Amino acid sequence: MLYSQVAGQEEIKTSLIKSINNNQVSHCYLFEGPEGMGKFELALIFAQSLLCLNFHKEPCNECKNCIKVNSYNHPDLHIINEDGNSIKREDIDMLINSIYNKPYEAKRKVFIIKDAHLMTPRAANGFLKTLEEPPGDSVMILLTINSNLLLPTIVSRCQEVKFRNVSKETIKLFLKDFDDKNVELAANYSKGILNKAINIINGNDDTLKKRKEIIKIFDRIINFDSEIIYELENYFDEQKDNIDSIIEIMIMWIRDIMFVKNNMEDLVINKDCIELLKTHGTNMTKDSDIIEYMQNTSDNIKSNVNYKLAVDNMLLRIQEVFK
Ligand SMILES: [Zn+2]
Repeated sequence: MLYSQVAGQEEIKTSLIKSINNNQVSHCYLFEGPEGMGKFELALIFAQSLLCLNFHKEPCNECKNCIKVNSYNHPDLHIINEDGNSIKREDIDMLINSIYNKPYEAKRKVFIIKDAHLMTPRAANGFLKTLEEPPGDSVMILLTINSNLLLPTIVSRCQEVKFRNVSKETIKLFLKDFDDKNVELAANYSKGILNKAINIINGNDDTLKKRKEIIKIFDRIINFDSEIIYELENYFDEQKDNIDSIIEIMIMWIRDIMFVKNNMEDLVINKDCIELLKTHGTNMTKDSDIIEYMQNTSDNIKSNVNYKLAVDNMLLRIQEVFK
């Protein structure tokens, strides 16, 4: 693997490479960021770089250590909690057992701990002891979605590495080999999370399917009378767990309608639907606060207001704006 195969996170890559070249590798790193940001991929490449016999700016991919890492078969690379389940005291005991042994083949041992926030309290306490006196030839890389979920005493002993959302342009560049008309949509709907963009392209993420459903719903809300809102109740009932993302897709649609109405088509996200956006915008009330209203609905649902009532009111409001 190569650093250049992971999109974005340039600052992180530079600082990791520099730490190896300057011989300033920390004994424990904490990679923090949302799911799908490439934390695990970058942890693996960093591990490979630490074990590689000819590391320069990239691991060589040719030495015996690189070959073994690439086939997930290096005895000095340990991946803990590969399945993302909870991390029990036994798992940490295994880590402690191997961390105090000499490396088998490389100069160092590397431990990647996935979803480190899933350590049980007993496991976390055991782990803390290793962090107090880590053996010099070991490097630990903890991965987490949120460092606040870890014991502060663990966080303070790690070098924190925060993953940031990747720009749309970087995602598009990374996806350029996908000969797919959906690249633009994937980049726009991925919210800067590369793996989400890839999943959208591959169809492993249902955002585009949901988008289709929502466009149909808009069509019905706009073209039928208020009775239709009660007919849509089943759909919204089923979407209760994803209402956040549903409202977000709806907001993007309305936002696009506003751009089209104001002759700003280049800013439209749903570029494949310009004609329909124009049609939907025909009767739209100017200067509506509907987007703000919908954002509030989304927030209110999180604070447990009556779900059905909140959704009905939102749909009625949309209908009002488009009549
Ligand atoms: Zn190598």
